[in-house]
Amino acid sequence: MAKTIWISIRCLNCREWLASQIFFSDSESFDTSVLFDYLASCPHCGKLTRSNKENFRAKFEDGVILGDEA
Ligand SMILES: [Zn+2]
Repeated sequence: MAKTIWISIRCLNCREWLASQIFFSDSESFDTSVLFDYLASCPHCGKLTRSNKENFRAKFEDGVILGDEA
């Protein structure tokens, strides 16, 4: 069971990555539905951005990366 190292959201306004406040205990409990419609304020442009299943990425302790790597 791999623990979550970080989860990031890509700002829809400036395309920068921001650290999310969302945490999952491990990859098995990872549920992308939690990310849908999550609202975060971007530290880069100061605007609110809404996350969805297409603009996040997450890394787990075992090296697995999920989400957008572009
Ligand atoms: Zn931004």
